[in-house]
Amino acid sequence: MARIVMKFGGTSMAGIERIRNVAALVQREVNAGNEVAVVVSAMAGETDRLVNFCREASSLYDPAEYDVVVASGEQVTSGLLAITLQAMGVNARSWLGWQLPIRTTDRHASARIETIDTDKLIAAMQSGQVAVIPGFQGMTEESRITTLGRGGSDTSAVAVAAAVKADRCDIYTDVDGVYTTDPRIVPRARKLQKVTYEEMLELASVGAKVLQTRSVGLAMKEGVRIQVLSSFDAPTDNELPGTLIVGDDEIEDNEMERQRITGIALDRNEAKITLTDVPDKPGGVASIFGPLADSNINVDVIVQNIAHETGSTDVTFTVPGAELARAIDTLEKSKDTIGYAELKHDTKICKVSIVGVGMRSHPGVAAAMFQALADRGINIQAIATSEIKVSVLIQEEYAELAVRVLHTTYGLDAPESVEA
Ligand code: ASP
Ligand code: MG
Repeated sequence: MARIVMKFGGTSMAGIERIRNVAALVQREVNAGNEVAVVVSAMAGETDRLVNFCREASSLYDPAEYDVVVASGEQVTSGLLAITLQAMGVNARSWLGWQLPIRTTDRHASARIETIDTDKLIAAMQSGQVAVIPGFQGMTEESRITTLGRGGSDTSAVAVAAAVKADRCDIYTDVDGVYTTDPRIVPRARKLQKVTYEEMLELASVGAKVLQTRSVGLAMKEGVRIQVLSSFDAPTDNELPGTLIVGDDEIEDNEMERQRITGIALDRNEAKITLTDVPDKPGGVASIFGPLADSNINVDVIVQNIAHETGSTDVTFTVPGAELARAIDTLEKSKDTIGYAELKHDTKICKVSIVGVGMRSHPGVAAAMFQALADRGINIQAIATSEIKVSVLIQEEYAELAVRVLHTTYGLDAPESVEA
């Protein structure tokens, strides 16, 4: 017997037919003798629809009331799943955010979970009742409804799994696991059996959008074992058909040795800004990134060029494409304090990243990346690294070519199928 949290995303919950399919998956776990809590998303497209209503009502909507509106999508699906389970003879009830309760901070529209009361929840699960919990929502100290930010039901599921000390948090989605790269770009991409929290965090932060990044950070902190799997595949006898996201200790040393690189991610949503002739003196760079931070704009790859003889330098960095206009506005307002000559920007760029804990024990990983790109005539505009990641900024038109070349370079291509 195990205690399992199952989470179903919007495509899995879109319509009664699909909810019946979800209910059957839940029933399988119950019949296997497991204690089960289910966390659900709103039906696909529903949250967008609700957000648009708020915008239509007033562009300056109150975030507290926005939360009241957008949290309703998950209330609908949790009630519908409970009804469907009951109709199948499975004992189930819904527990809304305020009923458990799931307490959060009062930052409406992007609240953080603080605590989850689990006494009643665990008692219900132990009595054999399935607990159906709407993801994405919580409540403040003052009993006002909050939401956790878009994609937040992954974080709800991991938080519930941590709170009830679940053996596993199974995240059911429309893909059957985490892949070495996007299979739409590289058809020979392989499904990973296991990936570490750290790798998943890096992959998620550079464009591999399987899980909300925050949920992976939380899982790592709380040691929640996650499995990503598809709700559309026919059930098999294999208890772990998807990809496990776990700590280093669960991955055998020899497995880690085998691959230097675990995955390759592509992010097309960055924009590049270059400030020319910034005075090369202490505080020069701080005068750029201070105002950007104050405007809540995340800066990623940064390069400062060698100083010109005139005592000035060019500084290049990236920001999320959606924030480009705000970033430019902020930098233009600070032009006098920064003292740059010209602001240039380019949206026709992309960021390609290689990620893998194997990098730690293998020298030459970055060199192989640069060489492979050079062989294809792809120019690298900027580089950023962490202990287990190397990102390069290149021209957007080479995005797919770069991903394919790197996938081959690091030996990630699946063997050609024999039957084909
Ligand atoms: N329904 C919410 C959204 O679309 C939360 C989630 O699905 O994770 O963002
Ligand atoms: Mg999601």
